[in-house]
Amino acid sequence: MAEQKRDYYEVLGIDKSADDATIKKAYRKLAKKYHPDANPGDKEAEAKFKEASEAYAVLSDADKRRQYDQFGHAAFEGGAGAGAGGFDFSGMDMGDIFGDIFGDFFGGGRRQQSNGPMKGANLRTSVRIKFEEAAFGCTKEIEMVLKDECPTCKGSGAKPGTSKKTCGKCGGKGKIVVTQQSFFGTVQNVTTCPDCNGSGQIITDKCVDCHGTGYIAKKKRIEVSIPAGIDDGQAVRIREKGEPGINGGPRGDLLVEVRVAPHPIFQRRNTDIYSSAPISFAQAALGGEAIIDTLDGKVSYEVKPGTQTDTRIRLRGKGVPSLRNKDVRGDHYVTLVVQVPKSLNKEAKEALKKFDEATGNTLKAATEVKSEKKKGFKDKIKDAFEDL
Ligand SMILES: [Zn+2]
Ligand SMILES: [Zn+2]
Repeated sequence: MAEQKRDYYEVLGIDKSADDATIKKAYRKLAKKYHPDANPGDKEAEAKFKEASEAYAVLSDADKRRQYDQFGHAAFEGGAGAGAGGFDFSGMDMGDIFGDIFGDFFGGGRRQQSNGPMKGANLRTSVRIKFEEAAFGCTKEIEMVLKDECPTCKGSGAKPGTSKKTCGKCGGKGKIVVTQQSFFGTVQNVTTCPDCNGSGQIITDKCVDCHGTGYIAKKKRIEVSIPAGIDDGQAVRIREKGEPGINGGPRGDLLVEVRVAPHPIFQRRNTDIYSSAPISFAQAALGGEAIIDTLDGKVSYEVKPGTQTDTRIRLRGKGVPSLRNKDVRGDHYVTLVVQVPKSLNKEAKEALKKFDEATGNTLKAATEVKSEKKKGFKDKIKDAFEDL
């Protein structure tokens, strides 16, 4: 619960002794002024509308009004006198709940809208591409089953020569009013007519070609242009390749989600690429040219003398192009891993021994420590015997 809540009577601008008709009149006035339909995008108006609706929900219900008069806002904050586990009006769309109270102001317009041209639903599919295709962009052809207007009935769904009839249940409005009991008291809700599914019309003689749907499904090939820099999970939108529109509205869109296959050596993070590259011990120690795999093929890199294993180098501009501007590319970070030879021929072994002798004699040093240890052990035994 936010800051101090305003008194419900104050919100509606009425006296504590106001009768039901006065409450309703006050609410209608405020609702008309602050309704979201009349103030699109206006957060303050929306808040005012909700506040007024909440006040009305309570004061228009004799029971709740009595509780409110006795306990104030505490009546609906759980515990206290309410007993009914606290109402939280803040999260509710009061516009829907009360949409019908002032149907004469707003409902009429809404009903017309839902029967007017509407954009079709979006369709979703996915396509698998290679790492390099994601980096540099590509074109893929996919197959989709798309609905098209049935040529036989021109999309009406009715057998040629017959016509649709106005739905008897809703009288052609496509919506019906349902009265429900809820904790607000009696609430009237507007829902889609179940008989005509909101179209307002019933087909008695269905078109045989489309079985009354008005659409024919056809497999279609669609070319998808995938931009350079796209990443796994991102989608390409193809306008007007979704479901057909309703009552002459535009088609929905087709959203193609891109699944990028992993690369055997490259890993991608945003526009940067990470990989590791082997270098020999001699390259690491002496420095020299190493050949490194990048998105652009093999490149040569000058390894510095004395390079340690796991040294990370950066190849500027060798990463993935940015989705916004393909001329801007990320970097490629390469971890240089010094390789230890697993098998050596005799010549190499001799050379390595010589190398060792010249660089600190590590092999010999170890054998000396070993013989030292052995001697020490013998001496200890000797000492032990002498003690007896
Ligand atoms: Zn048809
Ligand atoms: Zn109907």
